[in-house]
Amino acid sequence: MARESAEAEARNPRSQAAYARADHLFGRVPMTWMNKTAGAFPRYLATARGARVTDVDGHEYVDFCLGDTGAMTGHSPAAVTAAVQHRFAELGGATAMLPTEDAEWVGAELTRRFGPTRWSFSLTATDANRWAIRLARAVTGRPKILVNSYCYHGSVDESLIVTGPDGTGTARPGNVGAPCDVTLTSRVAEFNDLDQLERELAHGDVAAVLMEPALTNIGIVLPEPGYLDGVRELTRRHGTLLINDETHTFSAGPGGCTAAWDLEPDVLTIGKAIGGGIPAGAYGLSADLADRLLGRDDLDLVDMGGVGGTLAGNALSVAAMRATLEHVLTDDAFAHMHRLAERFEAGVGAGIEKHALPWSVSRLGARTEYRFSSPAPRTGTEAAAAGDTELEDFLHLYLANRGILLTPFHNMALMCPDTTEQDVDRHTELFAAALAELAG
Ligand code: PMP
Repeated sequence: MARESAEAEARNPRSQAAYARADHLFGRVPMTWMNKTAGAFPRYLATARGARVTDVDGHEYVDFCLGDTGAMTGHSPAAVTAAVQHRFAELGGATAMLPTEDAEWVGAELTRRFGPTRWSFSLTATDANRWAIRLARAVTGRPKILVNSYCYHGSVDESLIVTGPDGTGTARPGNVGAPCDVTLTSRVAEFNDLDQLERELAHGDVAAVLMEPALTNIGIVLPEPGYLDGVRELTRRHGTLLINDETHTFSAGPGGCTAAWDLEPDVLTIGKAIGGGIPAGAYGLSADLADRLLGRDDLDLVDMGGVGGTLAGNALSVAAMRATLEHVLTDDAFAHMHRLAERFEAGVGAGIEKHALPWSVSRLGARTEYRFSSPAPRTGTEAAAAGDTELEDFLHLYLANRGILLTPFHNMALMCPDTTEQDVDRHTELFAAALAELAG
């Protein structure tokens, strides 16, 4: 680690100096999470195109981070660049507060892919989740939201709950400025644990289960056979809505896990990649749910009721979503990305096997992840226990010093339409070399 840190300093003097100068930024970075970097300072971005990123010190990287899914399209894909250029520079009007005809096209395409039939837009997945939660509480008249332990749905207050050692809900460690005890607003169940879910829903106070069809933010935790069917059956039986957050699980295919696995959520939320790099998010409701909400005179859905944002659904963001869905994240693109992710998974698997390490590798369509436990974790709590920050930092720094970026916070590698077999093989080679050094 000392050797790799010294190497990072020697390779990146300009990034290091920029970081040292950034006295006017909270934590020296534009966003505090940018301090989650292997090494003593972040590498500063110069350019990004497709699956390639360059830093201000002139190094090029194969980018498997891809903005933690925001750039699953590849960076600045041509179709989105053209649509954004046309909308912003030629037509203008990103903040005109008027709808554009593109929005209905996007709504119809999201319905074709994911199912829900009435869509509304946001600029982030966090906001899509926040607004979906408010609508779920409004329509059911129930106060609580249930999430899976060690989920991540953005900085959503209700979701910052984990299962404590005694099996009951408790605040997620480190939660900043919680408005109240999280158990007043939330319940929690382990992923893949239908008994716990049933016990929690039986209280009759849960408006919605907000979940990813596979956990993706604590490594990948895949659903066991029958689990998602069980969730749907239990939520229906207890009058609880099911919100699928497909922001990351979109990697499973053109219609995310919802289409790939025939899921039937009442509400679907998504963000990041659907804007192709331009801020965009969406939530979709079933027609019945939408009608029930619109028919309620007591709900202010238009003005100050707590659902919406001034820039949400703006013409630029909607044009970017249309270009992404029409031209970039197509069926063919997903087929290519899935093939490469299989190759990536096989390469990592071979490295793990060669050294007989107690690690595992998981894949969800275009997304892969290695985790320091074997077999792969089956709950969020198990996945959290398998974390090893020091080992993770070493691997990230080792790879970054040799031109490969993984996603900070975990060992996630995502494929985009521009990723190549050579890119994947370069990772396999370096991963094997890092393991040989560690094992040696
Ligand atoms: N949902 C999921 C599943 C996520 O992984 C994330 C972010 N990693 C979000 C929502 C929030 O996205 P954003 O930070 O863009 O609002």
